[in-house]
Amino acid sequence: MAEAETQGKQVKPILPFLHISDNPDEKPYLAGSKCKSCGATYLGARMACSKCFSTEPMEDVKLSDKGELHVFSIVHQSAPGIPTPYVAAIVDLPEGVSVRCNIEGVEPDPKNLKFGMPVEMYTEIVHTDRDGNDIMAFKFRPAK
Ligand SMILES: [Zn+2]
Repeated sequence: MAEAETQGKQVKPILPFLHISDNPDEKPYLAGSKCKSCGATYLGARMACSKCFSTEPMEDVKLSDKGELHVFSIVHQSAPGIPTPYVAAIVDLPEGVSVRCNIEGVEPDPKNLKFGMPVEMYTEIVHTDRDGNDIMAFKFRPAK
């Protein structure tokens, strides 16, 4: 039997800082790094702190899945194959981290979106790669 047939397909994150646990009961989360010297927190892995310039290894932290809509733009033209309109946004998390993302679950119209409105992260399988692995993306939607 070919080796590929013996391996189960995996769920892979679309970006390295989307953490997917081997435990299916644990929800995926955005992984961050926290500076041990000054406490500044960043999205994903970092070699050095841009606030205090410390190069000490950083602490891995789990970022909140709830935040506030900092700024948004309704995109009407995009690359071929990308459906428009959609809402491109920057969401601020309570850890002081800003995340670029899309806002879903709302009609892409400025009347439905407010700066500072509460939003929550969720994940979705967006496509399957050539090896049959599911690719997971994160998005935000208005918080319930
Ligand atoms: Zn620092």
